[in-house]
Amino acid sequence: MKRNDRTNLIKKSEVEHPNSEIKKFLCILMSLFIASLNSGSNGNCYYVGNSDDAVLIDAGISCRETERRMLRLGLSIKKVRAIFVSHEHSDHINGIPVLAKKHQLPVYITPATHSSGGLVIDESLIRPFAVDHRVTIGGLLVTAFSKNHDAADPCSFMVSYNDIRVGVFTDIGIACQNLIDHFSQCHAAFLEANYDDEMLEKGGYPYHLKRRIRGGNGHLSNKQAAELFTNHKAPYLSHLLLAHLSKNNNDPRLVQQLFDACCGDTQIIVASRFVESAVYQIDGTLKTPGATRLKKVEELQNFQTSLF
Ligand SMILES: [Zn+2]
Ligand SMILES: [Zn+2]
Repeated sequence: MKRNDRTNLIKKSEVEHPNSEIKKFLCILMSLFIASLNSGSNGNCYYVGNSDDAVLIDAGISCRETERRMLRLGLSIKKVRAIFVSHEHSDHINGIPVLAKKHQLPVYITPATHSSGGLVIDESLIRPFAVDHRVTIGGLLVTAFSKNHDAADPCSFMVSYNDIRVGVFTDIGIACQNLIDHFSQCHAAFLEANYDDEMLEKGGYPYHLKRRIRGGNGHLSNKQAAELFTNHKAPYLSHLLLAHLSKNNNDPRLVQQLFDACCGDTQIIVASRFVESAVYQIDGTLKTPGATRLKKVEELQNFQTSLF
């Protein structure tokens, strides 16, 4: 269904059916749904989609585990139209060859990332793109922009649908102007909170690794992420999923506490390096925490079936 058709449907139906179930259904049609399937140096994979189309940003866990986690969440792999690759580090690409081949998914990857990553994928599935370009995938618009990270051609993504914007911002050395410009437009975002300064400083990592992590091409600290959030969040940012937490230099409880203290109306979720998150419905409005949470998109499918 085209967006204009949907908008017309909403206007017409709201007049004819002031029924809360109908409104809920129409709201679902106009929303984005997001989930972290895994987040951390052991694998990253983020799902963003509407009721028809979806994309995966990175696929760093195995095909089997990606399928298993999506199934548990009620997310259909059949709706996934493409995989977008942020950079060539193995925790972002490990699952791509099998997943792309098995489900015949196009892989959007910049030429420099492709040549650096050594990915073995059928050429027919490769879709080269350049940063700062926009790609339309079904009803979704995916915007890529460059970021500071020690990779060949690293980029972050923002996915838009129906004027709702979701960002996927991990593996970032600094909160550059590009990041600020995109983060400040988002209704929901996956944002890296990789390390606690003190834990990294006092921890056992060798000096060169500490320097790499906190240098301008490494990762974003909890403090840097909190500053970005506090100073640049949009008033309509409903969900913030803190992502890519270090196993050794961070603590999920610490991150939750830090952001809960300054969250305002934004729901704070710490994405796990072990399990998938819930699916969150982003409908462009702020609600009390939990109210927009949709446990299973199956609900949507059941709902659609019961209506039509
Ligand atoms: Zn990474
Ligand atoms: Zn990386």
